[in-house]
Amino acid sequence: MTRTVFVNGAYTPEADAKVSVFDRGFLMADAVYEVTSVLDGKLIDFDGHMTRLARSLAELDMAAPMTADEILVMHRELVARNGLVDGMIYLQITRGAPGDRDFVFPDPAEVPSTIVAFTQSKPGMAQSPQADIGISVISIEDQRWARRDIKTVQLLYPSMGKMMARKAGADDAWMVQDGFVTEGTSNNAYIVANGRIITRQLGHDILAGITRKAVLRVAEMCQLIVEERAFDIAEAQSADEAFMTSASAFVMPVVQIDGVKLGDGAQLGKPGPVATQLRRVYLEEMRKQAV
Ligand code: PMP
Repeated sequence: MTRTVFVNGAYTPEADAKVSVFDRGFLMADAVYEVTSVLDGKLIDFDGHMTRLARSLAELDMAAPMTADEILVMHRELVARNGLVDGMIYLQITRGAPGDRDFVFPDPAEVPSTIVAFTQSKPGMAQSPQADIGISVISIEDQRWARRDIKTVQLLYPSMGKMMARKAGADDAWMVQDGFVTEGTSNNAYIVANGRIITRQLGHDILAGITRKAVLRVAEMCQLIVEERAFDIAEAQSADEAFMTSASAFVMPVVQIDGVKLGDGAQLGKPGPVATQLRRVYLEEMRKQAV
């Protein structure tokens, strides 16, 4: 089945979908995006993604080409047209395609934003075997720009970070700035120590994960204590457990950091009880609220 994608108001077979070579998303990464998970044909935490999208657009003075309600209708249409059961919907909005390449923003009254969305199928994504064994991470220096709270498509450094992890035989990288972990290449980072869940406080240094927000709510429901503060790699390596969160990986245990296995005894290098519980309860809660 050929995939149907959405481009500027039209549902189009992917092979026919086109964006201008002058598009500022293409030329300058002048674009923001959201990735919403779909489980059993329903959208997970859709409102959270729309709230963050509105904020990213506002921070960049970019016009919203569609309302959240219109985007919901469009997402449901993409799910239906593509028979999507489990997977993601990727949504991107750019500052559009003025006739020439120019650093100055075009007038939004003259140049409309570009909006594109497509589905990615991932059957059974909530039953990922990786969640049963956990992932390994390496630490790398955080060399991204200073406004990581805006969800832009400038993903070259995170992409390079993933490749550094691959080369080192690991699954992902945690980025470190001034000695402290900021976040993963495409996820938020957590450790569990002395019965507390520790994760970096929000700010310009990290993306305010939609999954982070939901998981911290779930932690509270489970009467777990959360401490929002920075931690370093040494503290993470001596923690009882670690995990990461993102819209597409949900809660994923991290069992090894820079070659050091976490936990001890029979639990050494295995997913910990807190990450396992949070993953289960998060998925239960999110499925209940899915639209
Ligand atoms: N941090 C970064 C840098 C990310 O790219 C992502 C995934 N988009 C996240 C955190 C997790 O955010 P979310 O839970 O909204 O997917």
